[in-house]
Amino acid sequence: MPYCPNCHVEYQPGIKECADCRIPLREGTPQFCPNCKEYVREDDTFCDNCGVLQPEIPADERPECENHPDRSAIGGCVICGKPVCEQCSTRHNGRIFCENDEHLNLHQGFVVAYTTSTDYEADMIKANLEGAGINAVVFNQHDHVYFTNMGSLAMVNIMVPRSQLEEARDVITALMSEEGLSDSESGDRDDA
Ligand SMILES: [Zn+2]
Ligand SMILES: [Zn+2]
Ligand SMILES: [Zn+2]
Ligand SMILES: [Zn+2]
Repeated sequence: MPYCPNCHVEYQPGIKECADCRIPLREGTPQFCPNCKEYVREDDTFCDNCGVLQPEIPADERPECENHPDRSAIGGCVICGKPVCEQCSTRHNGRIFCENDEHLNLHQGFVVAYTTSTDYEADMIKANLEGAGINAVVFNQHDHVYFTNMGSLAMVNIMVPRSQLEEARDVITALMSEEGLSDSESGDRDDA
């Protein structure tokens, strides 16, 4: 059944657009992380919210720990996306972090305001947030690209201080409607 990738409501076959969000529906069934119950995209290897490896990923496609190529990863750092094994991971509030303490510290003060797959979009958003006086930090997971049957995946998270999240979301929403950008925006990616 088609469902809305934004609000996760399921619709009858044949319907093309979410009545509430006015965006195109996606085929399939929405999936939720067994650990944190947040919605996960079907091509996500790790939950965006808590970093736990998703159980649908077949054993031979599971990424290895970046420090221990002979061990499979149990999840990916929610800040940098680095795949880690049990020993290399730190758990905090049900989320997975790599061994870099800075990532845990950052997480406690910063929240993800927006996720994109292009460096270009991330840079543009960061510039606009900074223009609005918001201290934005970009975390690029391109350093930790792993492969699945969907191809290579990489996310870029734009993080802002928790106290400025609402303000940041307003800036991003305004920017998106202005630029007519969306998740499905394609364009030449220039990974220099
Ligand atoms: Zn919707
Ligand atoms: Zn989760
Ligand atoms: Zn990390
Ligand atoms: Zn390890």
